[in-house]
Amino acid sequence: MTHKLLETLYQSAKTLTGVGPKSYEALQRIGCTRIIDLIFYLPYNLNQYQYMPDLSKVITGSNIVTKVILDDTNFAKNYHYRNRSNIFKIACSNDTGMIYIIYFNFFPKFLESKMGGEVIIRGKVEKYMGELTMAHPEILSEANAFASEPLYHLTYALVNKQLIDIITNALKTLPKLPEWLPKDIIEQYSFPSFNDAIINSHHPKEIKDFDPQTNIRKRLAFDELLANQLAIMLARGEDARTRPGIAIEYSNILMDKLLAKLPFALTDCQKKAIEEIAKDQRSNLKMRRLIQGDVGSGKTIVALIAMLNVVSCGMQACMMAPTDLLATQHYNFIQSIADDLGIGVAIITGKIKAKQRKILLEQLQNKEIDIVIGTHALFQENVVFANLGLIVIDEQHRFGVEQRTSLANKNPHSDILIMSATPIPRTLTMALYGDISISVIKEKPAQRLPIITSVMPNSKEGELTQSMHKIIDKGEKIYWICPLIEENTDADLEKKSLKAAITRYNELRANFGDVVGLVHGQMANDEKNQVMEDFASGNLKILVATTVIEVGIDVKDATLIIIEHAERFGLSQLHQLRGRVGRSNKQSYCILLYHYPISEIAKARLGVIRSSNDGFYIAEEDLKLRGAGELLGKKQSGVADFKFADIFMHQELLASAVKLARFIVLEDPKLQRTEHQNLKLLLGAFGYQH
Ligand code: ADP
Ligand code: MG
Repeated sequence: MTHKLLETLYQSAKTLTGVGPKSYEALQRIGCTRIIDLIFYLPYNLNQYQYMPDLSKVITGSNIVTKVILDDTNFAKNYHYRNRSNIFKIACSNDTGMIYIIYFNFFPKFLESKMGGEVIIRGKVEKYMGELTMAHPEILSEANAFASEPLYHLTYALVNKQLIDIITNALKTLPKLPEWLPKDIIEQYSFPSFNDAIINSHHPKEIKDFDPQTNIRKRLAFDELLANQLAIMLARGEDARTRPGIAIEYSNILMDKLLAKLPFALTDCQKKAIEEIAKDQRSNLKMRRLIQGDVGSGKTIVALIAMLNVVSCGMQACMMAPTDLLATQHYNFIQSIADDLGIGVAIITGKIKAKQRKILLEQLQNKEIDIVIGTHALFQENVVFANLGLIVIDEQHRFGVEQRTSLANKNPHSDILIMSATPIPRTLTMALYGDISISVIKEKPAQRLPIITSVMPNSKEGELTQSMHKIIDKGEKIYWICPLIEENTDADLEKKSLKAAITRYNELRANFGDVVGLVHGQMANDEKNQVMEDFASGNLKILVATTVIEVGIDVKDATLIIIEHAERFGLSQLHQLRGRVGRSNKQSYCILLYHYPISEIAKARLGVIRSSNDGFYIAEEDLKLRGAGELLGKKQSGVADFKFADIFMHQELLASAVKLARFIVLEDPKLQRTEHQNLKLLLGAFGYQH
């Protein structure tokens, strides 16, 4: 469905001159397989040259670009034998003075025909015995004679000059795109056109041009943010505020029954969130609400109560979790109280057998099932609800925009409640969800003690054994996290890190016996669930795990978590992992092991984690230190991969893009108006379906 004007941009980079099989492989490594990728691949720095300086005044060490006449007519003879190397030397000059071009051990045959003519040379000058020289200069064409050379991030088998040529060719295919932004926005920010902005970004002239606040950079960032917001809002169908929802007349019977069964009282924040949700549920507007709460703040209960509200008036609710493990955990919990509450609960994951699945789907349709927990298997076409009143999405940031909207589109009027495990800064929330109401659970249950975190080099890990024995003797449990780079493109690396986890497991088993278990991403779901159950029930005391454990796992009496290679994790990820302990009134500990060599930044990061237990603060720091992509993890496509926009630096632009997108979609939910046709090009250019 690519727009005609954009067709060339989506062609393979192979179609460009200068791209052969070898260089295409290199381009793949930097993520530039299509022409558009190259056009969007901006330089990160530049080499600057003095442009046509006065040669009589140039000082040694300067980088210059200048036009000279190759004076030497007797070219071939003009070499010297020195230091057992051949030196070819050509005298050149222009109005401002003289310079010698020098080649070591290389006869510049290609200059032979140019003798007496003009060339443009670029390079570093040195003074030898009063003579100005330039060794092995670049010979440039008039068109490439910029005083600056953009520097791109490279990979092996790809040099900067080659990439410049390829990108220059790619830019030649960029069609003249019409303006898609409204006039007032362009005037407000003094934006250049998209084409100019892109082309200029590839030709930075000074360091200042890399400032994210230049009009050029802001133009690109705004386009990217607007495309993202439009895509989210268009996928949603209409603006949430105008979309009719279902007014739910519920009673508190089920909630009260549940609360009576809980061994604890709700915190004030939980109560407030429940009240805010209830208000949305009673209203006949569609609810779109995010529960944001630090790890361990008790979001699940809040969501469960929202589901019970719906069930109490004869409607159904579903909850989607990102992994089988988490879906099973939620299911087990709800199932354990289902009989007392008199409700029907089921779980639908990918591993359910066809026969059982058929029965479940029937039960869903005739309302024997009130609450369904599931993974993305819930998206499938044939999962049909009788009357779905609420969709809960747990640990939302693991899902992509498309998955999220496909469940919502299924039941366009159902309320939506999203639980976010990462306390995302407000700005990022907007980029991810567009327009959404937020309930924040700030406080943790009162009896919780802050987790004590320490940082140590792995060389000291031997000292941990004793403390681990102590923990186990107290009847408490331990997580040992080994980093496994999941979905790694580099299969070798993945194998290696898995091997490291298995080695650690064997080592701990030799030390602690069969109370040690192992869980990792390559295991079958049944196996994984079994190990988790054994850990929860106490058959296992130590769980060696890769980061599959990161989200949501709730084992109350785990009080020590050891994270190996902590320097490899992002801040928010470390905070998530640490949140696996500290889930009861017992004192919990987190030990971050790092391996040498460790960079200063990595050290600073570990310091942030050690000194703070505040997820919001940590997320802000993470955003500052590593950018949005890292905060959300590689899996979060779309937002994480912003190429031009920096969520932190462009907060104002983001707010403005949200506002504009909302205005457009509210007026023209299908982008049918003539004046909105160019917006389809914007969406297409940024890779969104339209
Ligand atoms: P998260 O917000 O990380 O998803 P959970 O919902 O998994 O947190 O809750 C963490 C743990 O705290 C669970 O074991 C839950 O039963 C417990 N919990 C929830 N609310 C309270 C409360 N008000 N007081 C004590 N414990 C609570
Ligand atoms: Mg949770």
